[in-house]
Amino acid sequence: MMQHTPAAAQQASRSQRDSETRARLEPGNSPPAIEVQDLGKSYRTARGTLHLFEHLNLRVESREMVAIVGQSGAGKSTLLHILGALDTPSSGRVYCASTDVTSLTPRQAAAFRNREIGYVWQFHYLLPEFTALENVAMPLLAGGIRRKEALEAASRWLAEVGLEERRDHRSGELSGGEQQRVALARALVSGPRLLLADEPTGDLDAMTAERIFEIVERLHASHGLTSILVTHNLDLAARCGRTLRLENGGLAEAAGASKCDPPGSIL
Ligand code: ADP
Repeated sequence: MMQHTPAAAQQASRSQRDSETRARLEPGNSPPAIEVQDLGKSYRTARGTLHLFEHLNLRVESREMVAIVGQSGAGKSTLLHILGALDTPSSGRVYCASTDVTSLTPRQAAAFRNREIGYVWQFHYLLPEFTALENVAMPLLAGGIRRKEALEAASRWLAEVGLEERRDHRSGELSGGEQQRVALARALVSGPRLLLADEPTGDLDAMTAERIFEIVERLHASHGLTSILVTHNLDLAARCGRTLRLENGGLAEAAGASKCDPPGSIL
């Protein structure tokens, strides 16, 4: 019988680990960033039940950048809220970073959101009485990080969005684009892996929208994010790896995937 020396055993365990790592890194083998199964969402209204989705499926791979487009009222924001554990579906499952977010208690969902998800909205919702630096630090301070550390991290993030010199300005002293850059830094300061953006450029002129989108693209790539953007801007959507159109309660592929993004598919 073959005897394993300690060195041979170490070597065997190293190659086992290496082959597991290789298998995980093979396209299609790592778990998706988001998997939505048979999602349903309806609202009871005075005029009857509004079925927004009944059997919606979606798979988004880690590090993909996906745009969601569709007519006003199609349910894009509602879908984004459900993906980000801000709203609950009427039926179906949503796995986000391998966690079934539909099974979380409200307290667990809050902790999950703080840890895993960065949100950006059309309107920045900065706190007007605080400076840009304090606004960016806010999620860390709320999470119990010491003030000095939180402000240092916020300062690094303001530098990432090119706003170091505006750190002591209050939101009323910033332009719309600058406010959105602060909001972006605030969304990412806690190190989430998933960025959900609802019309992040919707309130901005074309040039400023372009500048914000470039920053989102850069941060998406440099921080290895998975990003989902709801937008009405088809030119910006076309620059994402995939564009999905939400209509009639389902998602359909609306444009080709770019070469640099990993493959993903609608189930
Ligand atoms: P979109 O982002 O595509 O414009 P939304 O997700 O905001 O669409 O809304 C989709 C539809 O759901 C709209 O018709 C809206 O009026 C309806 N809706 C959203 N929230 C509620 C609610 N709490 N109760 C009833 N209807 C709602």
